[in-house]
Amino acid sequence: MAAKSFDLIVIGAGPGGYVAAIRGAQLGMNVAIVEREHLGGICLNWGCIPTKALLRSSEVFHLMHRAKEFGLKADGIGYDLDAVVKRSRKVAGQLSGGIGHLMKKNKITVFMGAAKLAGKGKVSVTTDKGAEDLTAKNIVVATGARARELPGLEADGKLVWTYKHALQPAHMPKKLLVIGSGAIGIEFASFYNTLGADTTVVEVMDRVLPVEDAEISAFAKKAFEKQGMKIMQKAMVKQLDRAKDKVTAHIEVGGKVEKHEFDTVISAVGIVGNVEGLGLEELGVKIDRTHVVTDEYCRTGVDGVYAIGDIAGAPWLAHKASHEGVMVAEHMAGQKVHAIKPESIAGCTYCHPQVASVGYTEAKAKELGYDIKVGRFPFIGNGKAIALGEPEGMIKTVFDAKTGELLGAHMVGVEVTELIQGYVVGRQLETTEEDLMNTVFPHPTLSEMMHEAVLDAYGRVIHM
Ligand SMILES: Cc1cc2nc3c(=O)[nH]c(=O)nc-3n(C[C@H](O)[C@H](O)[C@H](O)COP(=O)(O)OP(=O)(O)OC[C@H]3O[C@@H](n4cnc5c(N)ncnc54)[C@H](O)[C@@H]3O)c2cc1C
Repeated sequence: MAAKSFDLIVIGAGPGGYVAAIRGAQLGMNVAIVEREHLGGICLNWGCIPTKALLRSSEVFHLMHRAKEFGLKADGIGYDLDAVVKRSRKVAGQLSGGIGHLMKKNKITVFMGAAKLAGKGKVSVTTDKGAEDLTAKNIVVATGARARELPGLEADGKLVWTYKHALQPAHMPKKLLVIGSGAIGIEFASFYNTLGADTTVVEVMDRVLPVEDAEISAFAKKAFEKQGMKIMQKAMVKQLDRAKDKVTAHIEVGGKVEKHEFDTVISAVGIVGNVEGLGLEELGVKIDRTHVVTDEYCRTGVDGVYAIGDIAGAPWLAHKASHEGVMVAEHMAGQKVHAIKPESIAGCTYCHPQVASVGYTEAKAKELGYDIKVGRFPFIGNGKAIALGEPEGMIKTVFDAKTGELLGAHMVGVEVTELIQGYVVGRQLETTEEDLMNTVFPHPTLSEMMHEAVLDAYGRVIHM
């Protein structure tokens, strides 16, 4: 059978791949997308979306316990774990189905199967019905990543879980160990802790959420501990002894090894790119550990082969993948594109309280030699936060003292994952402290704290 010919073939239908396919189709390309498992990738099926659905259940549960504070009555508060998981899976299914509609609407040909680069401009797809040969001028590799497994700490689905197991638990852990306090680990710790699991988080670095500003990490840690979570920092799980229904974790902390028992362990120690079996190296594509090496336009160095999203390296975020998807489609269409600046990509963690940031931390700005001005504003000084019953949190800004450039913004507190975009837009438009100070923020909103945190950096804060 003759190979089917396209202008663009995208391998992997996650937020990187499906967005690249849509943008390519919008630009008049005849596009094919190949997906071996599920449209929407990890993000819609096993990542961003189902975790947020679970976290919403635990957030409502938490609020129900606070009903009295709001003059409300809620008796017999409880939860049905199966129903919580079912809702999360339904939300994921709805969104994944939506991608199918978008593919149809944009006349993108979908092949459900595993793809492999078979030569220059050639892709072979193994489907249930057999093999398909495809050709295209341009190929985008967007095969994403999976959970990293450390030797001895491998998941078994019963006692030791990856994020996939943690998203569809058959039972509620009683005593839970979460290894790793990055966004994924802390979100699961937050969910299970709120629903009543006795939760311990072990982090090898000197603080939780280690990529965040140190002050924000410290604030978040205090809040987690107040909720009953145990946090072990500068600690490392060396070994897991698995028995029938319990695990003994050997945790090295302060030069000594402590033994602690748990009934469930979630391993959240990072991800590895899906680079295997794709024929990448045979074609001359360079791989560094488990990620494809690309330039700022996501080109691999092999003509007509781009790599985007998680497989192309950090930051491992859906919005970064999607933005790269748009960029590569426009690049291959000959449009002028702007390379992505990693320091302008916001990171959001949907734990309770939420954490969000963009740009440099205070420490990083200093390390880079900037003379800085720092502003801070606490949630307790904001009318909307108090009315919401959420006075716990803070916003911090870091400015270049010489130019007034907003170098970084860091937040912890309710709904900060929605607020951060205000600063992202500010950074994109290269606003200075003056523009931000002259901006009128609506009242009463949480966003007023973003204004105050700017004013504070310049000694002009009003409500503090
Ligand atoms: C628990 C969890 C929570 C997360 N929460 C967030 C969040 O809140 N915000 C955020 O921005 N990010 C979050 N992420 C990260 C986010 O999911 C990823 O950054 C994003 O999915 C990357 O998109 P991608 O398109 O590069 O790859 P993926 O979404 O991984 O998609 C890759 C696709 O390629 C397919 N594929 C792989 N190999 C082949 C092949 N040979 N042939 C055909 N198809 C193939 C896979 O089946 C998959 O569907 C989370 C991740 C996890 C695990």
